[in-house]
Amino acid sequence: MSQPEFIAQLTPSSETFASEECARLAPYFSNADRSVVALMNLPEAVKGALFSRYSRSSKGVRRLFLDEFLSRAELGVRPNADAAETARATDNARAQAEAFYARVLSDYGDDSVGELGGAHIAFQEVSQIAAKTIEDHRLGISFLEKSSRYVPFDDKVNGQYRYYRDATLLASAYGARVTEHLDGLFDAYTALLPRMMQYLEATHPIAELEFENALTGAVEKFARIDDAEFQRSAAFAYKQAVRAQACDLLRCFLPLATLTNVGVWGNGRALEYLLLHLLADPFAENNWLGRAGAHELTDVIGPFIKRADDAKGRQLQAYLQTRRATQRALCERYLTPTPRANAAAPAAKATLTRYDDDALAAVVGAILFSASDLPKQAVTARVQTLSVAEQANIVRAYVGERQNRRHKPGRAFEHARYEFDLLINVGEFRDLQRHRVVTPDRQAYTTAHGYETSAQLEAVPEIRDAYHAAMARADRLYRMLAQEFPNEAQYVVPFGYRVRYNVELNLRELYHWCELRTTEQGHPDYRLTSQQMYYAVRAVHPILAQGMTFVNLKPNPPMSRLRAEMRSARKKLG
Ligand SMILES: Cc1cc2nc3c(=O)[nH]c(=O)nc-3n(C[C@H](O)[C@H](O)[C@H](O)COP(=O)(O)OP(=O)(O)OC[C@H]3O[C@@H](n4cnc5c(N)ncnc54)[C@H](O)[C@@H]3O)c2cc1C
Repeated sequence: MSQPEFIAQLTPSSETFASEECARLAPYFSNADRSVVALMNLPEAVKGALFSRYSRSSKGVRRLFLDEFLSRAELGVRPNADAAETARATDNARAQAEAFYARVLSDYGDDSVGELGGAHIAFQEVSQIAAKTIEDHRLGISFLEKSSRYVPFDDKVNGQYRYYRDATLLASAYGARVTEHLDGLFDAYTALLPRMMQYLEATHPIAELEFENALTGAVEKFARIDDAEFQRSAAFAYKQAVRAQACDLLRCFLPLATLTNVGVWGNGRALEYLLLHLLADPFAENNWLGRAGAHELTDVIGPFIKRADDAKGRQLQAYLQTRRATQRALCERYLTPTPRANAAAPAAKATLTRYDDDALAAVVGAILFSASDLPKQAVTARVQTLSVAEQANIVRAYVGERQNRRHKPGRAFEHARYEFDLLINVGEFRDLQRHRVVTPDRQAYTTAHGYETSAQLEAVPEIRDAYHAAMARADRLYRMLAQEFPNEAQYVVPFGYRVRYNVELNLRELYHWCELRTTEQGHPDYRLTSQQMYYAVRAVHPILAQGMTFVNLKPNPPMSRLRAEMRSARKKLG
């Protein structure tokens, strides 16, 4: 395929720009009309701030840039930068740098050279399947994704809901049913959002809730607040919290085809690896994103990512594909007849499947080792002579006085490892998958493990009935599609269905995970899972879990986001 033919096939962006806007975008974005776009010639802080807006906006990166960044002189962006002039200057600098880079790489040949430059790239209007594939990457790369909590997914573009339309599925005999199903899920989500907010307002009226006055520290019922400004910010925070909670509750309707925006910053090596994996992925959407990403990044950090698809890169892609096929064959050979997945509610969302029997001694040994000059074996032998009470004292002293959850125990805690089998809903998986300091393993999305519901959904008859009916339709359609299209069928699975996610993590990360994911503003689903993880570890290793003092074991507050919204409302209005 020629270069123009290739470019013509890249997915166009649903956002359009007037010609004078295109001219203003040109110095800073690799294109103005495609869904994958790289950022150029912008200060690092501006790129970071731009991507951070993703989580609270349904706009794309270029529209955000024009609306909120371009005219702000303090950001150091020149509103009327001349694209040709910028391009000429950067072309010269780039040509020199690329020649130098190629020389360094051939002289030293180290992969780590590829970690010394980086780029921002936005993958916009991609399905959840693609977003999760991108975010599966861990080292040297950071992500920001549109939130399903702060941004309602009810808007349409050109009369169509925002979901990925897989060409293979749509061209199949099931095409019309797939479209009808996906439209039906978005229709239900859209129609029920105001009803859910109404229910939340009725069950937790603002008059009964308590608000913290950030200035005085006083906690008061809304009705008793006589400060007009405080009342204004409390009312604003309440509205935001109700909306976030309604989005949290109704996201179980959203299918994996739902489109999102993912902002990525990565070093060259990590981006090359990401592109290579996308190119070798079984989903056609991901293959296209790999090609589109390589195309957009060529002008920004071309030499860094060149090997994703050169001869050696293609060999590695083939190796990855063979390995995946081998795993499937091994599974068929050694795990058949596979017991059927059980759609009944599982006993636990988090099951501790493996842990180290000698975790305490390993952690104590590591605490003592780095401050001594003895070989590790000698330290280990000495630890074995210590009583459990002495070992517990050592751990307690090492953890020390933690003032907040950011005071994490040190690396000695990485010597204890835990494996959890999580059976959680897809929405929850989206959130928990973002923890990168773990060894994650996920199975395919399916309806076979059943779906989750919540007390609030069940409490409103019209929402409950619509939900169960939608889940039943999704199951029927998924099972029909899965026989012929095992990959593509996953696009129709809604977030309410369960997915099996296996994570191995060390004790230090477990502290971070359980303390972060149980905070009161967290989603109730992952709060419960993370509380179960904490209880499981505390049961087997009480001494090691003792320092986890910031795990919040309280039930979900009536309005989980209220306090956080109150803080930001005061900042905005104040
Ligand atoms: C209530 C809540 C709301 C959230 N809302 C949003 C949202 O709207 N949009 C959104 O995109 N995300 C959101 N997140 C996700 C959040 O920003 C993190 O991505 C997630 O908590 C996991 O990442 P982590 O860095 O905290 O932890 P881990 O990935 O487990 O890493 C542990 C620690 O290692 C270090 N670390 C790991 N990777 C890197 C790296 N690449 N660079 C530097 N240090 C690193 C950091 O110290 C980190 O805290 C939300 C999280 C919570 C709890």
